[in-house]
Amino acid sequence: MSDIVNGVFERFLESKIFVNRELLRPEYIPDELPHREEQISRLASALAPILRGERGSNVFIYGLTGTGKTVVTKFVVKKLHSKAMDLKLRFGYSYVNCRQSDTPYRVFADLAESIGVKVPFTGLSTAEVFRRFIRGLKENYTSFLVVLDEVDYIVKKYGDDVLYRIVRIGEMLPSIKVSIIGITNDVNLIETLDSRIRSSLGEVEIVFPPYNAEQLKDILKKRAEKAFNAGVLSEGVIELCAALAAREHGDARRALDLLRIAGEIAEREGSSKVTTEHVYRAREEIERDRVKELVYTMPLHAKLVLLSIYATSSKGYTTTGEVYGEYVKLCKAVKVEQVTRRRVSDIINELDALGIIESKVVSRGRYGKTKVVKPLIKSEIVLQTLKNDIRIGKIVESIRI
Ligand code: ADP
Ligand code: MG
Repeated sequence: MSDIVNGVFERFLESKIFVNRELLRPEYIPDELPHREEQISRLASALAPILRGERGSNVFIYGLTGTGKTVVTKFVVKKLHSKAMDLKLRFGYSYVNCRQSDTPYRVFADLAESIGVKVPFTGLSTAEVFRRFIRGLKENYTSFLVVLDEVDYIVKKYGDDVLYRIVRIGEMLPSIKVSIIGITNDVNLIETLDSRIRSSLGEVEIVFPPYNAEQLKDILKKRAEKAFNAGVLSEGVIELCAALAAREHGDARRALDLLRIAGEIAEREGSSKVTTEHVYRAREEIERDRVKELVYTMPLHAKLVLLSIYATSSKGYTTTGEVYGEYVKLCKAVKVEQVTRRRVSDIINELDALGIIESKVVSRGRYGKTKVVKPLIKSEIVLQTLKNDIRIGKIVESIRI
């Protein structure tokens, strides 16, 4: 057994593919960010007053996922902080990701903890956590920057109260210059905010447009230079990663994932080169993981409907009538109460929107209209994932497809 392990370790250590794969990870902040010069300079200008002891502008940043919002913000804020330290300013900042810290309590607890104020995981009121954060600010800083990333998550769930409180810190504490950066993937978010918050937060607005294939190519080239050994990337590999990601609204994260995973597949195989074939396989792997995650986290009835679709699609497609019949049977088998035909039809539409199936209404002449449903994902992937559900795993095994 230990031979196997040693073999894996040896191969890993001898990697001919990567010099440093960490440079391709999403969290890594590179020194150069091609095609974001304008956004970097606008953000830096908005924050520059902090270095003179004045308040920076509040900034609202928006753009689709993978357009560089997080990395650009971290890049600029890091530089700002180090400059402020050189100038011996009592400046601090806090970065909170509102998707990970997705309650007002967690957001304020993160803010407090980032300035060294300890907060229990639960037990205090949200208002008390906020007060402790404010007290910590007063004792330690003359200027402070709050970065709320993916702020749409908290606003959609809890409204704009968190933002309101943070926007008002400056008014409560005239002795401290507080500015905020709000980042969102949802471009419509600002319209849903209360007008006071909107005007306050949107003093400066910076848009991050999607990258095109050419720009993604430049980004990948720069990051690949130091991550891969020289000559390892076959011709066309970077171009293919860029082209595939450009099709998905110019997502740089997707482009980097494709490149990194293609490299990992090549390495696992003991290949000395990364080829376009590896990129296609990386794409499959990413897609498979995405589907698994999606299916695994679905509610029970969505899983049952999905299973019913696969169970009745031996001819490549099925109809809503057949799906419903099967669904009723499956509900009996797992002893849960069935939902209405109408609700099942809604679930089918939701699965369609997720890209797992395709459904369309077709006319059957004098028999009227019917909805045809076609599964889009390989059945092994879906069934394998459903098997892991403790409530329905058993019936998945009994179904033959
Ligand atoms: P967003 O926050 O808009 O979803 P990120 O800032 O997380 O996007 O960027 C996604 C990935 O792409 C990250 O790994 C980031 O480092 C990388 N990236 C984005 N833009 C650039 C760029 N201009 N140059 C280099 N890497 C970039
Ligand atoms: Mg981000």
